[in-house]
Amino acid sequence: MQTKTATRFRQHYTALLDLRLPKQCPLCRRFCFDHGLCADCWQGLVFITPPFCQCFGRPLAYAIGDHLCGSCFTKMPPLAEIRSCFLYNDRSRQLILKFKHGDALHLTLLFAHFLKRLSLPWKSQTICLCRFRFMPNDIFTGGSTNQPVLLIDDVMITGATPYEAVRTRQKAGSGPVRGLVLARVLRHGL
Ligand SMILES: [Zn+2]
Ligand SMILES: [Zn+2]
Repeated sequence: MQTKTATRFRQHYTALLDLRLPKQCPLCRRFCFDHGLCADCWQGLVFITPPFCQCFGRPLAYAIGDHLCGSCFTKMPPLAEIRSCFLYNDRSRQLILKFKHGDALHLTLLFAHFLKRLSLPWKSQTICLCRFRFMPNDIFTGGSTNQPVLLIDDVMITGATPYEAVRTRQKAGSGPVRGLVLARVLRHGL
């Protein structure tokens, strides 16, 4: 009974709050039903879905036996896995620039939601979260040698930055390094 009353109160309180503070799309500020993107902005994002390379996360045209792209098949990258939410296009660029340079910190929750969906299987293995290019030099000191690491960045262009960061740190004794990226640039031959 108490739970029902509490639920009803919460519903009324939320409805009242919606009237006073209507929800808006974090990108175009159009009014919408929840805290996510509006339908138009959502449609502009190209999410990366299977099939993709099990190592580098590159989208594949069709599912293949070993689930590796040609590049990883030829030479395995130093990272154990990289996963990206969506392709880097006009819409995702708008979103990321708004967050980085437009003071749109309200996008944090939305990004966290996107990344959380990608990172679930790795949650229990990680010891650090930081951007590829800002990985501190002493991160594997103090008894954390051989521990798996999860790195997060906003955009991946060629993979050169994460590769370089990972090679250096693996020499210092890290365990497998995995990466999460919001958007990745997809070029022919990447
Ligand atoms: Zn919108
Ligand atoms: Zn690959």
